[in-house]
Amino acid sequence: MATILDGKKTAEEIKGEIEEQVKQIKAQGGKVPHLAAILVGNDGASETYVNNKVRACEKVGFESSLLRFDENISEEELLTVVEEVNANDDIDGLIVQLPLPQHISVEKVTDRIRPEKDVDGFHPENVGRMAKNLPAYIAATPYGILQLLKRYQIETKGKHCVVVGRSHIVGSPMSILMAGSGYPGDATVTLCHRYTENLEEFTKRADILIVAVGIPGFVTADMVKEGVIIIDVGITRVEDASKKSGYRLKGDVDYEQVYPKSSFITPVPGGVGPMTIASLLWNTLLAAQDAVYSGIEVE
Ligand code: NAD
Repeated sequence: MATILDGKKTAEEIKGEIEEQVKQIKAQGGKVPHLAAILVGNDGASETYVNNKVRACEKVGFESSLLRFDENISEEELLTVVEEVNANDDIDGLIVQLPLPQHISVEKVTDRIRPEKDVDGFHPENVGRMAKNLPAYIAATPYGILQLLKRYQIETKGKHCVVVGRSHIVGSPMSILMAGSGYPGDATVTLCHRYTENLEEFTKRADILIVAVGIPGFVTADMVKEGVIIIDVGITRVEDASKKSGYRLKGDVDYEQVYPKSSFITPVPGGVGPMTIASLLWNTLLAAQDAVYSGIEVE
């Protein structure tokens, strides 16, 4: 019987710990962490994601600011907004909800955020520090996965970890972190992507399989070995007439098929997703203490 890696429960525990720390900060008259989020345009899914982040901030006692802009805002104007937030001492962390409209370069905008406020961990300085095993703001999804492995005390040292998908926000940092020294890490890592030939030859050899491709049900039972640990990052809306919304969320792993073969598995929803928001809050708490760049030990 596989153990379900309950991201919802674990994220609630982490948020409870953050809330406790905020209470202590307030009691001591310290500065309450403040996260600002930039949202450009009216994309429904982006709006939901950003609202969830803002609501999560409120729940743990953070301050939050949602900075909304019309989709016609120019790149130059948006960069000026980032500069203003950079200079605002009251704001500890800044995130830009993706995707941005076509005429705005994601790279230019995220690279303009001061690394000390880059709680999404997308700035090259933070990516570089992470790659060098130095304290860094780590992108929220990979960070959430590390926390999940840690809290379920899953051994990673010497294990073969196969990551499928090489995006800058999930697959690529995940492969670096799992190969890095320390726990969770010290794994032997294979990074697969759309041009990997005979993918199943690699996935079948995985002790830990982390999948972030965005194709629902992509990993089937014949692609994994007995006892595999499954981390399913994928979230895709698939039509489901039995739901009020008309859809349900499905992961990249065929859960029903793969569950009996696995030793640990994340469900979708309720696995990696909730951990992502908890990690963003954790990064914001660290940013308010300037923990990463002042050399305070980061967990
Ligand atoms: P992406 O969509 O940017 O890229 C997909 C990756 O999958 C690419 O690197 C590509 O090379 C690889 N790929 C595509 N087809 C493949 C194939 N046939 N074989 C092997 N590799 C293949 O990736 P992303 O932004 O990391 O998103 C992946 C999924 O994770 C999406 O469903 C997304 O919604 C989800 N996601 C979830 C969270 C969360 O918090 N749970 C966070 C980020 C992304």
